[in-house]
Amino acid sequence: MRESSRVNSIENKLKSIIQLNGPISVSKFMTVCLYDQEDGYYATHPKIGKDFCTAPEISQIFGELIGLWLVQEWQSMNCPNPFLLVELGPGRGTLLSDALRVTRKYTDFINAAQLYLVETSPVLREVQLSSLSEYSPRFVESLDNLPPGPLLCIGNEFLDCLPARQFVHKDGVCHERLIGVDETGAFAFGISEDKSGVQYDDFEGIFEVQEGLGTVIEYISERREKFRTLFIDYGTSRQVPDDTLRAFSSGLQTDPLSNLGGCDLTVDVDFGRLVRLARNSAIDVFGPITQQQFLQGLGIKTRLDLLIKNNPKAAITLEDGVRRLIDPMEMGEKFKVVCLSSDAQSTPLGF
Ligand code: SAH
Repeated sequence: MRESSRVNSIENKLKSIIQLNGPISVSKFMTVCLYDQEDGYYATHPKIGKDFCTAPEISQIFGELIGLWLVQEWQSMNCPNPFLLVELGPGRGTLLSDALRVTRKYTDFINAAQLYLVETSPVLREVQLSSLSEYSPRFVESLDNLPPGPLLCIGNEFLDCLPARQFVHKDGVCHERLIGVDETGAFAFGISEDKSGVQYDDFEGIFEVQEGLGTVIEYISERREKFRTLFIDYGTSRQVPDDTLRAFSSGLQTDPLSNLGGCDLTVDVDFGRLVRLARNSAIDVFGPITQQQFLQGLGIKTRLDLLIKNNPKAAITLEDGVRRLIDPMEMGEKFKVVCLSSDAQSTPLGF
């Protein structure tokens, strides 16, 4: 389908929903634009590396260090065999393909691993199947579809895709921020008339809640065997995100209310809330720390020196990649890392 007709089709779908039921939440808007089975961004033509660029696409060292982290944590769990090795939203499969390449020499680890990919996009499933074919990955739609068993799980830039609701305080009342269609026929933001029923006192301005964070924590906390889950994403840890809804297309930030279904939509992750939810469910939490701290803790400089020694011609590219990952002005500080663990005895590598 041509790009323009796909966009029009998402617009028409949203307009008929709004005509029928009135303005919709920001969360519903994100859900349709990203996940609509026929025309949603992820379902049809996600362009990772073009619309937005993630850490594993910037440098092979990112996935390689995660690979070493996975082996170390598997050992700290007493080398369960078998265990589930899971990635949430693997994109092009680059992270795991780099990670598993460096773990090849740990044959017990590789032989014990059952690879599961949690992925909703049929287009990306195809790409992942080809980049990870030698590990025979299995696909599931959601975390709660995983079988039982000890679990090592990683999600890089997964949580920021989970749709957010937005709220605003006005005249002492909490309203939900909604998206409707104005008199010119364009999509526009507004607020609900009624009290939303959500209790977030002492707060002014817009704030966001990703309800999916609660679902993720619920699924993890219900697991009976040992687990370690590593989340890496951009977000805040000390304050609740305000209006952070952003759209990206061809590397540029665009208007979230136009080019619907044609661009990625994303929000900052509220790591403070993620940590509170996890602790309330008796999950042990390490972090959040910054991506810079985490990667330096895993020895990114040593790995860089080794790769340059083996391939001096690639020095500039390798150095530039590492700089983008850890420089505070690039991904180093904005990205946070959290490890959720079933047992607090051993501090995970890098924390
Ligand atoms: N982790 C990859 C890709 C990040 S993009 C990387 O670092 O390069 C987000 C990924 O999550 C995509 O693969 C997208 O299809 C997937 N995704 C988004 N929302 C999802 C959901 N609710 N369930 C499963 N996968 C999802």
